[in-house]
Amino acid sequence: MSAMVPVAGGARVRAAAWADLRAERGAVAGLLLLNVLASAAGLAGPWLLGRIVDAVRAGSGDVLGTVDRLALGVLVFTVAQVLLGRWALAVGYRFGERTAARVRERFLARALALPPSVAEHVPAGDLVARGSTDASVVATTLRRAVPEVVVAVVQAGLLIAAVLVLNPLLGLCGLVCLVGVGAALRWYLRRARPAYLTEAATGARLADVVTSTAKGARTIEALALEDRRAQAADAAVADARAARLRTLWLRTVLFPSFDVSCALPVVGVLLVGGAMHANGLVSVGVVVTATVYMRQLVGPLDTLTLWVEQVQGAIASYARLEGLAEVPREEPGPAGSPEDDRIEVSGVRYAYDGGRDVLRGVDLVVRPGERLAVVGASGAGKSTLARLLAGLDRPRTGSVTVGGTPVADLPPDRLREQVVLVTQDHHVFHDTVRDNLRVVRPHASDEELRGALEAVGARWIDDLPRGLDTEIGAGISLDGARAQQLSLARVVLAGPHTLILDEATALLDPRTARETERSLAALLRGRTVIAIAHRLQTAHDADRVAVLEAGELVELGTHDQLVSAGGHYARLWASWHGGHDGRDPGRQPGAAGASPHPAAGTGTRWRSVRDTDGNATAGPG
Ligand code: ATP
Repeated sequence: MSAMVPVAGGARVRAAAWADLRAERGAVAGLLLLNVLASAAGLAGPWLLGRIVDAVRAGSGDVLGTVDRLALGVLVFTVAQVLLGRWALAVGYRFGERTAARVRERFLARALALPPSVAEHVPAGDLVARGSTDASVVATTLRRAVPEVVVAVVQAGLLIAAVLVLNPLLGLCGLVCLVGVGAALRWYLRRARPAYLTEAATGARLADVVTSTAKGARTIEALALEDRRAQAADAAVADARAARLRTLWLRTVLFPSFDVSCALPVVGVLLVGGAMHANGLVSVGVVVTATVYMRQLVGPLDTLTLWVEQVQGAIASYARLEGLAEVPREEPGPAGSPEDDRIEVSGVRYAYDGGRDVLRGVDLVVRPGERLAVVGASGAGKSTLARLLAGLDRPRTGSVTVGGTPVADLPPDRLREQVVLVTQDHHVFHDTVRDNLRVVRPHASDEELRGALEAVGARWIDDLPRGLDTEIGAGISLDGARAQQLSLARVVLAGPHTLILDEATALLDPRTARETERSLAALLRGRTVIAIAHRLQTAHDADRVAVLEAGELVELGTHDQLVSAGGHYARLWASWHGGHDGRDPGRQPGAAGASPHPAAGTGTRWRSVRDTDGNATAGPG
């Protein structure tokens, strides 16, 4: 069912990183300049120290005065290095924060821009792991690693250049000894990318298993699937653990090799420098300066190893974040504008994930303003047809169009002006009532919001402590009926010409269902309504009835036509009819209730009918 979200390749990651750096080129230039200046100031100290050693050894002239002046120089340059270094870090952190924000916002924008037909099939756990764990790893790295790595690279480069200028032979000797560092890093980097990608992927898989288990807890309990889910979680934990151990092993090899390799240049310069001094080729001061430079190199190299590991993980996370841009959009060009409100389904076939077709050549025209009921046995394909009509999925072959435009091609904001699917799934955000409603119309005025709430009978808004500004979730929660009303008010605001109702009230208790149906009644007035009918009363009251049987549209007509035709619908009607003491519920409105559908709840009442308590229920139509 769920498609994997791609991971971006090296070229895309490099291009994205380059674009992020270019967007901050001022800060990057400042970061480099300040670091070069700070590192150059840092080079002066050891050089002046060498001069002090040579001056003391020469012992001629004003030795004390010379040493004082040189020592003052060491102090001045050290202070300058500290100040420039701090400034550089501040610039670096600001750069990191801004870039981290940009990366997060880009991810969020991409996630929100996923077409519904794609978003529905993306594994939620993976998406959550990318948006949280991966985004945090990238943000932390940009915030801390990038400035510190830049400092370390600049420092290391200048130190190596300085020791080469000081004495090329000693410099070369130091560099040769650095080969060990290079070898350790090369060994590590070759293995790190796949290892970190696996670690991130297994972590995401674990999150996915846990999320889906928690989400489906009731179903799992009802079907006694606990053991299977526990096994799936155990397997995911074992994979995640193995992947973590692999990256841990890489680190345990890298760090000790690095430490040993870092000591080698100091030893090398001391040995070769000592021999050269013994042969009168260099002064002690030069050997001291070169040794201190080599010793100072350990600092930046240490920083680099520390971060190289973090940076590897961050590159893998960055590749996962950028991977969202590679999710296939299935969008064949810009959608045109629907010419009218007519919905046309033609030659539609649909299969879930390459399986067998669950819709097989469905043709149907829904006329504007009509009330169409879709009936059929469980598994006949009613909900699948509803999803295609609402543009949440795309037919495998054939087309579903509104006013001549494929429904699934419409961008989300255009789509919800045309067709909205109302199910029992409704989401209330932890936010104010106002913002909960404005998700569909960001600029709606308070009057419009109140009007929408009133239209669905949500008078409770006046009882909330702060009206539209009341935060839902912070101590105030909405029960099923109110949450449903809130989501219906969103539909009022969206103002689609066509509504598809699929079990909108099926799982609610009868009283809540009745309240919700009253709210629905207001919503249905004047619109085209396609109802997935779980109660045949709904079909009886509809203008036309479409009967689905094993994915095929086998009958289409008015209730009376289909009953007299004596086909599938007539049989369904007869069995339902039989369950109602021989009374025709169409003619005896008091008889609402049982249905041949085992999962049936209450249905859509779009004519004036009576509810089970015998109270009049105002219905549209
Ligand atoms: P019900 O009244 O029980 O909801 P329905 O008529 O709405 O049934 P659909 O839910 O559209 O039928 O299902 C049609 C077929 O597609 C069934 O065989 C079902 O098992 C299959 N199906 C539904 N959803 C999925 C899915 N997400 N992945 C794979 N197969 C699915």
